[in-house]
Amino acid sequence: MTLDPKTTAILLIEYQNEFTTKGGVLHDAVAGVMDETKILANTVNVVAAARKKGVTIMHAPITFAEGYGELTSQPYGILKGVVDGKAFTLLTTLDELKGHEEPARDRRPQGVRHGAYRDRVTWAESREQEAAELGYTVQPEVVIVGGGQGGIALGARLRQLGVPTIIIERNARPGDSWRKRYKSLALHDPVWYDHLPYIPFPENWPVFSPKDKIGDWLEMYTKVMELNYWGSTTAKSASYDESSKTWTLVVDRDGEEVTLQPRQLVLALGASGLPVVPEIPGAEKFRGAQHHSSAHPGPDEYKGKRAVVIGSTHIVRSDTLMDLGVGDLDAERALAAGVTTFKGDTIFASLPFRILHTFQIPVYAAIKERDQDFYDRLEKAGFDIDWGVDDSGLFLKYLRRGSGYYIDVGASELVANGDIKLAKGQVTELTEDEVVLQDGTRLPADLVVYATGYGSMNQLAADIIGQDVADKVGKVWGLGSGTPKDPGPWEGELRNMWKPTAQEGLWIHGGNLALSRYYSLYLALQLKARQEGIPTPVYNQAEVHHTE
Ligand SMILES: Cc1cc2nc3c(=O)[nH]c(=O)nc-3n(C[C@H](O)[C@H](O)[C@H](O)COP(=O)(O)OP(=O)(O)OC[C@H]3O[C@@H](n4cnc5c(N)ncnc54)[C@H](O)[C@@H]3O)c2cc1C
Repeated sequence: MTLDPKTTAILLIEYQNEFTTKGGVLHDAVAGVMDETKILANTVNVVAAARKKGVTIMHAPITFAEGYGELTSQPYGILKGVVDGKAFTLLTTLDELKGHEEPARDRRPQGVRHGAYRDRVTWAESREQEAAELGYTVQPEVVIVGGGQGGIALGARLRQLGVPTIIIERNARPGDSWRKRYKSLALHDPVWYDHLPYIPFPENWPVFSPKDKIGDWLEMYTKVMELNYWGSTTAKSASYDESSKTWTLVVDRDGEEVTLQPRQLVLALGASGLPVVPEIPGAEKFRGAQHHSSAHPGPDEYKGKRAVVIGSTHIVRSDTLMDLGVGDLDAERALAAGVTTFKGDTIFASLPFRILHTFQIPVYAAIKERDQDFYDRLEKAGFDIDWGVDDSGLFLKYLRRGSGYYIDVGASELVANGDIKLAKGQVTELTEDEVVLQDGTRLPADLVVYATGYGSMNQLAADIIGQDVADKVGKVWGLGSGTPKDPGPWEGELRNMWKPTAQEGLWIHGGNLALSRYYSLYLALQLKARQEGIPTPVYNQAEVHHTE
């Protein structure tokens, strides 16, 4: 059959991991058919070929009512619908627990008890009482270690679900992890992509939030969402008691040692929280300053000094990325087309990671075409242009390795015009005042910044949960794509994120604001279900293949 690309659309409905991923609970039922029909490979080919011919490719979110009443003709599981509809992918999500719905809209709390009561307890008094008791005379159900945007978003959802929770944060105030960074930092994702759950940014909020402004927003949010946020508190150690199914978590709260005993422990330490600094011979001799890029305080104290930045990366111009990369799901034009934040999140989640690169490759090809002159000038200046191993660009790098990209907000122009000089080659040594490359090049330096990426959160977690438990849980983040810093085998989902880990009662949360916003819902529901004793069998615990 020949189809006219101008009048043809392909509707993609997501494959379910349970069916299509090896180890999935229903995989055995379809494994034979999948092998025979080469369904996954064919999907990739069809999408790639169709896109090349200019066919419209659509992702259609479909919500089924309880009992799948929409499927009339005796379907064989969910796949029947997929087959009958000639659709490619299908996403199903659980957004609410029956009987434990959030107190929103017509279920919202009254807020006040009208009438004359001598025993009246005000809202402020009850908040004070809760703050005084929780963690001391009353144990929380959940403790979240790490009060960045991830911990805060999850805390808000748990609060709405009535799960007593404490957030532990070593910085003094919510938002400090942003305030403490270099002064020109602003969010690199646009406002439409960055909303927190429940309280979207106002319509006049800037497209790119300056770091101190986002810090203040997080602090405001923590307060009005009534989160139990322990600032200036560091988690010291945690151990799990198999018989009582509780954690013993020792924290230092502003100098006071407090022992908490939650049933569930969530680590939200930053998915890219562990700076990787290479061990370079001679580093200890270097007389200038040296630090990882995450610790760079900004330029003020290095005025007039010579800086060497070690590391190079994939670059995309911010304007172009906003237009071609995220505009259809997160922008005013997306809203005008009826794509709300939740819809945008769901559409994105409905794209299986297995074929996500096939959607990204054409985007980056278009980016390259639009900014060809810019990349030509960078190349002419000696910069090695990098689009990722399969040309799939920034977002796949983020998912696979959590590093290796720069959203250009101006610095690349300095490279292209020669204001920032380039030297190529492996660094072999640091002397007292130089960086030495393998070919003998010597670069005089007063400051060395290691732009060398991040490691896995389980290594960061080892300080708290111990090396043995961290190893048992294994590597965090990455898809098992077999690309640099993301060793195989293929996982199907992000390792250990938002789902049961190999350690009972231990969960991992994080990601950018968008992933944190969306997946905090599913993590919160899993925690709520456990609090309520709703059966939550884990059918296929992911195997652990890597410890770092
Ligand atoms: C230039 C730049 C631009 C960026 N732009 C965006 C953007 O536009 N949108 C976006 O979403 N992201 C952006 N990011 C990434 C952003 O930094 C991360 O997405 C975000 O910080 C992740 O939040 P988190 O809560 O998971 O982790 P973090 O913010 O890293 O929070 C982890 C917290 O854990 C605390 N902690 C660690 N150990 C302990 C302990 N033992 N006890 C108590 N507390 C502990 C830390 O103090 C920290 O506050 C950008 C980053 C950079 C560098």
